[in-house]
Amino acid sequence: MLNQPQKLSLLKFKISGLFLFLWANTLFAEEWVPVYEEPRHRLVFENDETYILNVKLEPDYVSLYHQHKADILYVTIGGTTVWAEPLGGKRRQATVDKGDLRFSSDNHPLPHIHRVGNIGQTPFHVIGVARKSAVTKGGTPIEGDTSGMEMAMEKDHASVYRIKLAPGEKSGLHSHNLPYARVFMSDGEIKDQKGKSSVVSAADYLWLEKEGMHSYENAGESELEIIEVQWR
Ligand SMILES: [Zn+2]
Repeated sequence: MLNQPQKLSLLKFKISGLFLFLWANTLFAEEWVPVYEEPRHRLVFENDETYILNVKLEPDYVSLYHQHKADILYVTIGGTTVWAEPLGGKRRQATVDKGDLRFSSDNHPLPHIHRVGNIGQTPFHVIGVARKSAVTKGGTPIEGDTSGMEMAMEKDHASVYRIKLAPGEKSGLHSHNLPYARVFMSDGEIKDQKGKSSVVSAADYLWLEKEGMHSYENAGESELEIIEVQWR
Protein backbone atom coordinates (compact mmCIF):
# COMPACT_ATOMS: atom_id res chain seq x y z
CA MET A 1 0.00 0.00 0.00
CA LEU A 2 1.24 3.46 -0.85
CA ASN A 3 0.86 6.31 1.61
CA GLN A 4 -0.51 9.69 0.54
CA PRO A 5 2.83 11.39 -0.41
CA GLN A 6 3.91 8.27 -2.32
CA LYS A 7 0.63 8.25 -4.27
CA LEU A 8 1.09 11.93 -5.04
CA SER A 9 4.62 11.47 -6.34
CA LEU A 10 3.52 8.50 -8.46
CA LEU A 11 0.78 10.67 -9.93
CA LYS A 12 3.30 13.47 -10.62
CA PHE A 13 5.58 10.90 -12.24
CA LYS A 14 2.71 9.67 -14.44
CA ILE A 15 1.71 13.20 -15.43
CA SER A 16 5.27 14.27 -16.25
CA GLY A 17 5.66 11.02 -18.22
CA LEU A 18 2.55 11.87 -20.22
CA PHE A 19 3.87 15.36 -21.00
CA LEU A 20 7.26 13.98 -21.96
CA PHE A 21 5.49 11.54 -24.30
CA LEU A 22 3.37 14.29 -25.88
CA TRP A 23 6.38 16.61 -26.23
CA ALA A 24 8.51 13.88 -27.86
CA ASN A 25 5.66 13.09 -30.22
CA THR A 26 5.45 16.70 -31.37
CA LEU A 27 9.19 16.95 -31.71
CA PHE A 28 9.72 13.75 -33.67
CA ALA A 29 6.41 13.53 -35.54
CA GLU A 30 7.27 12.97 -39.20
CA GLU A 31 5.19 15.74 -40.70
CA TRP A 32 4.77 15.87 -44.46
CA VAL A 33 2.67 17.67 -47.06
CA PRO A 34 1.43 16.73 -50.53
CA VAL A 35 4.10 17.69 -53.09
CA TYR A 36 2.10 20.64 -54.47
CA GLU A 37 1.95 22.17 -50.95
CA GLU A 38 5.74 22.18 -50.55
CA PRO A 39 6.61 25.91 -50.79
CA ARG A 40 9.18 25.56 -53.63
CA HIS A 41 7.08 23.10 -55.66
CA ARG A 42 4.68 25.59 -57.21
CA LEU A 43 1.53 24.20 -58.78
CA VAL A 44 1.23 26.16 -62.04
CA PHE A 45 -1.34 24.13 -63.97
CA GLU A 46 -3.96 21.51 -63.15
CA ASN A 47 -6.81 19.68 -64.85
CA ASP A 48 -8.52 16.30 -64.31
CA GLU A 49 -5.63 14.19 -65.51
CA THR A 50 -2.53 16.31 -65.16
CA TYR A 51 -0.73 18.86 -63.08
CA ILE A 52 2.43 20.84 -63.74
CA LEU A 53 4.86 21.98 -61.05
CA ASN A 54 7.49 24.70 -61.35
CA VAL A 55 10.13 23.58 -58.85
CA LYS A 56 12.95 25.92 -57.92
CA LEU A 57 15.23 25.18 -54.97
CA GLU A 58 17.82 27.86 -54.22
CA PRO A 59 21.27 26.76 -52.99
CA ASP A 60 21.10 25.49 -49.34
CA TYR A 61 17.32 25.07 -49.49
CA VAL A 62 16.01 21.98 -47.70
CA SER A 63 12.45 21.09 -48.63
CA LEU A 64 9.70 19.93 -46.31
CA TYR A 65 8.99 16.22 -46.36
CA HIS A 66 6.43 15.84 -49.12
CA GLN A 67 4.48 13.00 -50.67
CA HIS A 68 4.48 12.02 -54.34
CA LYS A 69 1.40 10.08 -55.43
CA ALA A 70 1.32 10.72 -59.18
CA ASP A 71 4.19 9.80 -61.48
CA ILE A 72 6.01 13.01 -62.40
CA LEU A 73 8.37 13.57 -65.28
CA TYR A 74 11.06 16.03 -64.18
CA VAL A 75 12.48 18.17 -66.95
CA THR A 76 15.69 19.76 -65.67
CA ILE A 77 16.03 23.41 -66.64
CA GLY A 78 18.82 24.21 -64.18
CA GLY A 79 20.97 21.41 -62.77
CA THR A 80 23.10 21.24 -59.62
CA THR A 81 24.00 18.80 -56.82
CA VAL A 82 21.11 17.67 -54.68
CA TRP A 83 20.30 15.05 -52.09
CA ALA A 84 17.06 13.18 -51.51
CA GLU A 85 16.10 11.56 -48.24
CA PRO A 86 13.14 9.17 -47.96
CA LEU A 87 11.10 9.48 -44.75
CA GLY A 88 12.98 7.31 -42.26
CA GLY A 89 15.56 6.38 -44.89
CA LYS A 90 19.07 7.21 -46.00
CA ARG A 91 20.08 10.41 -47.77
CA ARG A 92 21.45 9.98 -51.30
CA GLN A 93 23.30 12.55 -53.34
CA ALA A 94 23.09 13.11 -57.10
CA THR A 95 24.30 15.59 -59.67
CA VAL A 96 21.61 16.63 -62.11
CA ASP A 97 22.35 18.39 -65.41
CA LYS A 98 20.29 20.71 -67.56
CA GLY A 99 18.22 18.63 -69.98
CA ASP A 100 18.12 15.55 -67.71
CA LEU A 101 14.76 13.79 -67.75
CA ARG A 102 13.51 11.36 -65.16
CA PHE A 103 10.24 9.97 -63.88
CA SER A 104 9.69 9.79 -60.12
CA SER A 105 8.70 6.14 -60.59
CA ASP A 106 12.25 5.42 -61.85
CA ASN A 107 13.66 6.36 -58.45
CA HIS A 108 11.15 4.74 -56.08
CA PRO A 109 7.74 3.07 -55.98
CA LEU A 110 4.77 5.40 -55.50
CA PRO A 111 3.41 6.81 -53.24
CA HIS A 112 6.68 8.06 -51.78
CA ILE A 113 7.55 10.58 -49.06
CA HIS A 114 10.91 12.32 -49.06
CA ARG A 115 12.64 15.65 -48.77
CA VAL A 116 15.31 17.16 -51.00
CA GLY A 117 18.12 19.63 -50.46
CA ASN A 118 20.20 21.71 -52.85
CA ILE A 119 23.89 21.50 -51.91
CA GLY A 120 25.14 23.03 -55.17
CA GLN A 121 26.08 26.60 -56.01
CA THR A 122 23.21 27.28 -58.43
CA PRO A 123 19.41 26.92 -58.22
CA PHE A 124 17.88 23.52 -58.93
CA HIS A 125 15.10 24.26 -61.41
CA VAL A 126 12.76 21.66 -62.88
CA ILE A 127 9.37 21.59 -64.56
CA GLY A 128 7.43 18.57 -63.32
CA VAL A 129 4.66 17.12 -65.46
CA ALA A 130 2.46 14.70 -63.51
CA ARG A 131 -0.10 12.21 -64.73
CA LYS A 132 -2.77 11.79 -62.04
CA SER A 133 -3.93 8.42 -63.32
CA ALA A 134 -1.76 5.85 -65.08
CA VAL A 135 -4.71 4.56 -67.13
CA THR A 136 -3.69 4.50 -70.76
CA LYS A 137 -6.12 5.48 -73.48
CA GLY A 138 -4.74 3.31 -76.25
CA GLY A 139 -4.56 4.23 -79.92
CA THR A 140 -1.70 5.97 -81.65
CA PRO A 141 -0.86 9.07 -79.65
CA ILE A 142 1.31 10.68 -82.30
CA GLU A 143 1.27 10.35 -86.11
CA GLY A 144 3.03 11.83 -89.09
CA ASP A 145 6.62 12.86 -89.68
CA THR A 146 8.54 12.79 -86.40
CA SER A 147 11.89 13.68 -87.94
CA GLY A 148 13.95 15.88 -85.66
CA MET A 149 12.13 14.36 -82.66
CA GLU A 150 14.19 11.93 -80.60
CA MET A 151 12.21 9.49 -78.42
CA ALA A 152 14.00 10.23 -75.15
CA MET A 153 11.97 8.06 -72.74
CA GLU A 154 9.07 5.69 -72.92
CA LYS A 155 6.68 4.50 -70.21
CA ASP A 156 3.36 2.68 -70.40
CA HIS A 157 1.54 5.96 -69.82
CA ALA A 158 3.85 8.46 -71.56
CA SER A 159 6.36 8.95 -74.37
CA VAL A 160 8.86 11.75 -74.06
CA TYR A 161 10.33 13.40 -77.16
CA ARG A 162 13.33 15.69 -77.28
CA ILE A 163 13.40 18.15 -80.18
CA LYS A 164 16.68 20.00 -80.82
CA LEU A 165 16.76 22.44 -83.70
CA ALA A 166 19.64 24.52 -85.02
CA PRO A 167 18.77 28.05 -86.19
CA GLY A 168 16.58 27.76 -89.30
CA GLU A 169 15.99 24.02 -88.79
CA LYS A 170 12.47 22.52 -88.88
CA SER A 171 10.92 19.42 -87.27
CA GLY A 172 8.65 17.01 -89.15
CA LEU A 173 4.94 17.79 -89.51
CA HIS A 174 3.07 15.54 -87.05
CA SER A 175 -0.23 15.37 -85.17
CA HIS A 176 -1.12 14.55 -81.56
CA ASN A 177 -4.22 12.43 -80.97
CA LEU A 178 -3.98 12.60 -77.18
CA PRO A 179 -3.12 15.42 -74.76
CA TYR A 180 0.50 16.38 -74.26
CA ALA A 181 2.70 18.95 -72.55
CA ARG A 182 5.39 21.04 -74.17
CA VAL A 183 8.34 22.38 -72.14
CA PHE A 184 10.86 24.81 -73.61
CA MET A 185 14.45 24.29 -72.52
CA SER A 186 15.92 27.46 -73.98
CA ASP A 187 15.10 31.05 -74.81
CA GLY A 188 14.40 31.68 -78.46
CA GLU A 189 11.82 32.09 -81.16
CA ILE A 190 9.71 29.41 -82.86
CA LYS A 191 7.64 29.46 -86.00
CA ASP A 192 4.72 27.06 -86.42
CA GLN A 193 3.60 25.30 -89.63
CA LYS A 194 1.55 28.37 -90.59
CA GLY A 195 4.56 30.67 -90.25
CA LYS A 196 3.31 32.26 -87.02
CA SER A 197 6.24 33.03 -84.74
CA SER A 198 6.41 33.32 -80.95
CA VAL A 199 9.11 34.23 -78.50
CA VAL A 200 9.75 31.52 -75.89
CA SER A 201 11.77 31.30 -72.67
CA ALA A 202 13.40 28.40 -70.84
CA ALA A 203 10.90 26.75 -68.42
CA ASP A 204 7.87 27.92 -70.44
CA TYR A 205 5.32 25.13 -70.59
CA LEU A 206 2.05 24.50 -72.38
CA TRP A 207 -0.63 21.88 -71.92
CA LEU A 208 -2.35 20.95 -75.17
CA GLU A 209 -5.37 18.78 -75.77
CA LYS A 210 -5.45 17.09 -79.19
CA GLU A 211 -3.63 18.98 -81.87
CA GLY A 212 -3.83 18.77 -85.66
CA MET A 213 -0.69 18.73 -87.79
CA HIS A 214 2.06 20.91 -86.40
CA SER A 215 5.79 21.44 -86.74
CA TYR A 216 8.45 23.58 -85.13
CA GLU A 217 10.89 25.84 -86.87
CA ASN A 218 13.73 27.51 -85.00
CA ALA A 219 13.35 31.17 -85.97
CA GLY A 220 15.97 32.33 -83.45
CA GLU A 221 19.73 32.63 -83.54
CA SER A 222 20.72 29.85 -81.15
CA GLU A 223 19.85 26.17 -80.72
CA LEU A 224 16.30 25.54 -79.53
CA GLU A 225 15.35 22.57 -77.38
CA ILE A 226 11.78 21.47 -76.70
CA ILE A 227 10.47 18.50 -74.67
CA GLU A 228 7.10 16.97 -75.55
CA VAL A 229 5.48 14.77 -72.88
CA GLN A 230 2.90 12.74 -74.76
CA TRP A 231 0.26 10.82 -72.74
CA ARG A 232 -0.65 7.42 -74.14
ZN1 LIG B 1 4.29 17.86 -81.49
